Amino acid sequence: MASDMKIKRIHVYQIDLPLEHPYWLSGGRLKFEVLDATFVKIETDAGLVGWGEGTPWGHSYVPAHGAGIRAGIETMAPFILGLDPRQLLMVERAMDLALPGHLYAKAPIDMACWDIAGQAADLPIADLMGGALRTPRPIASSVGAKTIEETRAVIERYRQRGYIAHSVKIGGDVARDIARIRDVESIRHPNEIILYDVNRSWTRQQALQVLCAVEELNVMIEQPTETLDDIAAIANKHATPVSVDECLVTLQDAVRVASDNLAEIFGIKPNRVGGLTKAARMRDIALAHGIDMFVMATGGSVLADTEALHLAATIPDENCLAVWACQDMLTIDVAVGRGARNKDGHLHLPEEAGLGVHPDEDMLGEPVAVYS
Ligand code: MG
Repeated sequence: MASDMKIKRIHVYQIDLPLEHPYWLSGGRLKFEVLDATFVKIETDAGLVGWGEGTPWGHSYVPAHGAGIRAGIETMAPFILGLDPRQLLMVERAMDLALPGHLYAKAPIDMACWDIAGQAADLPIADLMGGALRTPRPIASSVGAKTIEETRAVIERYRQRGYIAHSVKIGGDVARDIARIRDVESIRHPNEIILYDVNRSWTRQQALQVLCAVEELNVMIEQPTETLDDIAAIANKHATPVSVDECLVTLQDAVRVASDNLAEIFGIKPNRVGGLTKAARMRDIALAHGIDMFVMATGGSVLADTEALHLAATIPDENCLAVWACQDMLTIDVAVGRGARNKDGHLHLPEEAGLGVHPDEDMLGEPVAVYS
């Protein structure tokens, strides 16, 4: 490839994204009120500019935090400067060589390079990835760990905004969890897609109790226990479909889940697994093994939501259940009116080249770091 484009400068910004309502996960043991967001602007010597975002769900959800992203970029920047951002695999290898692991810190760089590659090709990222479906994707809401009455109220609030997909957070007390699942199922609309998300909080025996108790309801339970070993230990003892997300970090995780029959659903989080480049391989493993997918932005602004939608647009409709997006949970909007927005509970792919959305720079303040 006649390379005539180089990464010239990397700007790093930090901004706090407050949640509209305090949010509890995992039976109430984890509380979240604000997300620490990192935005990355990559400038090329050809004049194109790409944007990336890394916004972990706080610092106690999974091993990922905002300061870690910024430190990771500081370490990787000397290895990325001068590369052609359109050569995504070269950028990926440079990052993996400079800093093994730390996948979440690599995602915003990968995202900004995809943004540039799309603009250079004059294609939306999903089309550049091989071809995008324009089917609007249902947005999955987040229904925090609450009582039966509060759960009904929150689901109804999202229904008013058009949502047909919901991630209902459970985990904690087994009897209460079974009661909440039964109650939500009793009010569920026929077209609704509901995921019951345990966020790892059950022990093996607790998981087995619930997974067996709700077998006849054929509901999807996400991340019932802490590790893949835990999920494997009980996999043959119940008939309830299982989704994995927190345990789906590396390509090796995806291979193990698929070949050892540990789950029927992947919850792929591009910003957790290292960006679209790595997430696309998980998509392919899922498709090759009859595993359906949710694509999840983990957290962050409409930039993260739009990135997730680009991946979702490359998944056949029948295999893509919904996209989890955060935009309706935040009180700050860094790109008002732009990007993939909630319209009647669905996200529509932007038709602009690249990512299709960039933040308002004056909302981000001065960069916390610039590498050139
Ligand atoms: Mg989850």
